[in-house]
Amino acid sequence: MTPIGVDEALDRILGAFSALPADTLVPLDALGLVLAESIVAVGNVPPFRNSAMDGFAVRASETVGASRERPVEMLVDGTVAAGSPPGRRLEAGTAARIMTGAPLPEGADAVVRFEDTDEGDRTGNSLSRKPGWAAIYKPAIVTENVREAGEDIRTGQTLLEAGARLRPPDIGLLAAVNRSRVRVHRRPRVAILSTGDEVVDVGSTLGPGQIRDSNGATLAAMVQYESAVPVELGIARDTSDELAGKLSDLDAVDMIVTSGGVSAGDFDFVKDVLRAKGEVSIWQVRMKPGKPLAFGFIGRTPLLGLPGNPVAAAVSFQLFGRPAIRKMLGWRDVSPSTVAATLCERVENAGRRRHFVRARVERSDTGGFSVRPVGDQGAGVLTSFAVANGLVVVPEHQAVLERGSVVQVQILDWDLATLHR
Ligand code: AMP
Ligand code: MG
Repeated sequence: MTPIGVDEALDRILGAFSALPADTLVPLDALGLVLAESIVAVGNVPPFRNSAMDGFAVRASETVGASRERPVEMLVDGTVAAGSPPGRRLEAGTAARIMTGAPLPEGADAVVRFEDTDEGDRTGNSLSRKPGWAAIYKPAIVTENVREAGEDIRTGQTLLEAGARLRPPDIGLLAAVNRSRVRVHRRPRVAILSTGDEVVDVGSTLGPGQIRDSNGATLAAMVQYESAVPVELGIARDTSDELAGKLSDLDAVDMIVTSGGVSAGDFDFVKDVLRAKGEVSIWQVRMKPGKPLAFGFIGRTPLLGLPGNPVAAAVSFQLFGRPAIRKMLGWRDVSPSTVAATLCERVENAGRRRHFVRARVERSDTGGFSVRPVGDQGAGVLTSFAVANGLVVVPEHQAVLERGSVVQVQILDWDLATLHR
């Protein structure tokens, strides 16, 4: 079997996926999902002209020349609270107390904030003020402290295009334009199956030669982290019957992800079972950690078979499983987030495979990023993967990367925030 490159493997895999049909959800449940419709505003926001400050609604022309020394005195004509109707028209020579968000009375064209006025204590006890009158200390400019109807959002405006991924402010926009439901590409359901006679469930006592199923947990978490729904199938022993049994009746899933059983030792056995159930090939991908990878269909459901070593499984999922999920979610660009960083240590790469080196990326004093490999790079060493916040991508043709060279680092998204400290 001729080995294939990472990019070719990814191309072949992505060819099998497209955006899933839309679901209608309440906006909060759609957070992180991709719009299957464009959102057009059916009304203005704000819907009416209103005050941006607590103060006095006035006619600006009547405040010309006002100052602390020579205030303009105005008769106070009532209060407009937020949530109340605009009330009566503002008569010449009067000012209305108005609260932030309250509708501007007809006739008024500006608001003078309370800080630039004096009304005494309103009870008539003030020595300096006449009850029922306010002193205006500052001339208002027309439209000052006034928010126009439609200033934020205009009727007919396209707020969000189909294909946009919903972020927290977008959920607010949907509410502002009265959307209680929204159409988004539905979440993929991803079945996760661990394989191996030595692998046992979390919570069980380890017998001789046994290990706990960490892959099932990591992969379920990665699936959920990507806004997809993990369907945990547990562990299949290395028998044809168990593997075949676990892979039956999976109509309601959009992808099956297995781990283990694709390396040379298990190769024929798994291949036979997968062949019998569908059309699955096992590839040797020029990458490290990882290399064996199965891909094909069980019935009409795509199956991605990852290697068993925990970091090989996780990195292979990140490279091939995650973009498949993102494509189903409707993402247009499924490529990983990368930064260029200066290498703090020499890295060797024997074997002409693309090496994904667990590393810590940091902002360097000079403004860019620096990156340092962390811990044991063994394919089974999960702790160093947990410490890493990125994967240095060492090209397959590069036998060595010298200290000081600039490299591409794929950011592990869950640690994105650590880049900016
Ligand atoms: P395999 O690809 O099945 O040959 O497995 C390669 C290595 O990964 C072996 O050491 C397995 O014990 C280990 N392994 C396989 N599946 C899991 C799992 N679900 N959780 C943790 N380690 C695993
Ligand atoms: Mg195995």
